[in-house]
Amino acid sequence: MTVFAKIITGEIPADIVYENEFCIAFRDLVPQAPTHILVIPRKPIERLSAVEPADAQLLGQLLVAAKRVIALEGLCDARIVINDGSGAGQTVFHLHLHVLGGRPFDWPPG
Ligand code: 5GP
Repeated sequence: MTVFAKIITGEIPADIVYENEFCIAFRDLVPQAPTHILVIPRKPIERLSAVEPADAQLLGQLLVAAKRVIALEGLCDARIVINDGSGAGQTVFHLHLHVLGGRPFDWPPG
């Protein structure tokens, strides 16, 4: 069981900023920007590469939730990141969107 699964069940505490029937959004333990919030589906999907066509609506819900979080945080601009696999920096194998804001972001990312 991943730490995010434990956050969903309440076994591990988290600073939840938004939730609905599809997903939960909470502050990252090690923020990489003044605002750093993770949006995760309640459904335990390991990574973006593991999604199936039937998850299409759920993926849309995650983006809509990210938009909601951006508004709640009062961000003018935001960087949305999905690390898909360890080679891309994924460390927790429960699909999640990073919503980052509150500072400038470089492109290309490091
Ligand atoms: P990844 O590297 O998998 O894309 O992102 C995982 C993120 O989860 C990291 O930014 C890390 O700081 C965050 N994280 C790991 N464990 C916990 C935890 O127990 N609570 C919270 N709030 N964030 C966590």
